[in-house]
Order: sequence, then structure tokens, then C-alpha cells
Amino acid sequence: MQKVLVSACLLGRRVRYDAEALTASSAILDRWIGEGRVVSVCPEVNAGMSIPRPPAEIQGGDGAMVLAGQARVIEMTGRDVTDGFRTGAEMALALCRQHDIRVAVLAEKSPSCGSGEIYAGDFSGTRLPGMGVTTALLREHGIAVFSQLDIAAAQRALSCA
Ligand code: SF4
Repeated sequence: MQKVLVSACLLGRRVRYDAEALTASSAILDRWIGEGRVVSVCPEVNAGMSIPRPPAEIQGGDGAMVLAGQARVIEMTGRDVTDGFRTGAEMALALCRQHDIRVAVLAEKSPSCGSGEIYAGDFSGTRLPGMGVTTALLREHGIAVFSQLDIAAAQRALSCA
């Protein structure tokens, strides 16, 4: 049975920077859980980041540019956490390889998990088109990544996987 990688915060785990969850309400997700398809991941916590932790945003581009060494992930405190975000992405990719996962549903707007838009990097609340670091790495390796707003599309991709 094909498994699906899902952001832990969407599954109700309080792993976000503010120690809250972002629980997704979805009949499709509930069915996947019942079928035993879901593999939970929090790239940031897996990489050793604390709960809670300061918010972080990508400055100078998006996750693909972080992987290319052309953008950085910076906490609101000013601390550069790029290496941790890259580590978290690599750990998520390793999970996908371990479970032969080809489809992921990750939390939109996160600097790790965003798939359609991310925050602009100035902590102003402005959002830009782009993806997070984990999403960029998974997509580079052929894994289809969707947000929690598009779980139906993830289901269609799973049917073709
Ligand atoms: Fe959720 Fe991803 Fe942020 Fe972890 S890194 S809290 S899974 S959005």
C-alpha cells in the first residue's frame, strides 16, 4: 500500500514554532489514517529544534534557493538556522525513501513545509509564491507535494503512484 508523508502539525501534533497544532479536517486524511498510510513528519523538530522556537522565514528566495545556497533561513532573533532546515529536509527525504513514499501533504506557508506560498522573509506577514526547504528537496527527488488545502489532488496523485 502506498504511504503518504504528512506534516505532524496537520495531524494535531503541537510541534509548530508556537507549540500549537494546525489540525487538518479532512475525510480523505481520516481515511488514510485508518488505512495505515500516513507517515508523520516534522522536519524542524526532527532536526532538533525546540518547541516552542522563534519563528523563522526564508530571506532572499524560497526553499529551492536555500538548497542552491542562494537564500538563508533566519529566525526572528536574527539567528541563521539554514543548516537545521536543510537537515530537517534531508531527514524527511530519508523517511520517504524508507517507506517508498511518492506523495506528501505538508503545511502551507511554512519555511519547511510550504508548497505554494511562504512568508516574504521580513516578518511583516507578507506572503509570496514559493515553497519551503523540505518541499523543495522532496520535489527535487520526484515526490509530489500538496498542501492541506489540496488533499483531493494528493488523493488523485496517490491513485496514480
Ligand atoms: Fe508543521 Fe512542517 Fe512546521 Fe513541523 S516544520 S511544525 S510539520 S509546518
